[in-house]
Amino acid sequence: MLALQGDVREHARVLSGLGADVALVRRPAELAAVDGLVIPGGESSVIDKLARTFGMQHPIREAIADGMPVYGTCAGLILLADRITDGISGQETFGGLDVRVRRNAFGSQVDSFEVDLAVPALGEPDVHAVFIRAPLVEEVGPAVDVLAQLDDERIVAVRQGNLLGTAFHPEVTGEHRFHGLFLDLVRGL
Ligand code: GLN
Repeated sequence: MLALQGDVREHARVLSGLGADVALVRRPAELAAVDGLVIPGGESSVIDKLARTFGMQHPIREAIADGMPVYGTCAGLILLADRITDGISGQETFGGLDVRVRRNAFGSQVDSFEVDLAVPALGEPDVHAVFIRAPLVEEVGPAVDVLAQLDDERIVAVRQGNLLGTAFHPEVTGEHRFHGLFLDLVRGL
């Protein structure tokens, strides 16, 4: 778990429940000791700033380039995007996903909402998805698999190789299949 800011505990609980050995990562040496990384929901601009302060930006970029499995939810998805719209001034990302993501895409009127979402890669039943000041994937490159769309249109879950991103928060609803998919990537399955 990248544990600089955000809903670290909720993710850690799901991962532990699936039998994973969970470590909190704040320093480069801690990153070097793990086989995969989850970037939680929270505030992407804060995680970005803290990552740079803690000297984590380059190590995370290198780990992604080396093929480390990484799962980002919400703010974590923003941080995995190669391109962002409506970031705060000077906001950077780790990148790796060939996508463009718009922060806070649902506006202030609809800060949060929940919806049952079909995710064919996970099978039945639908995922109960909680969106909290969520981003939206507005463009995807050719190597990106779209895993879920709202209204068959707006992209809210993607995978590119060992990188997985969801605009919503499976970790708050007892949904564990995305984390299971992430752990499969960590195990090389
Ligand atoms: N709006 C937040 C951001 O820009 C993301 C919200 C979340 O992670 N729930 O980082």
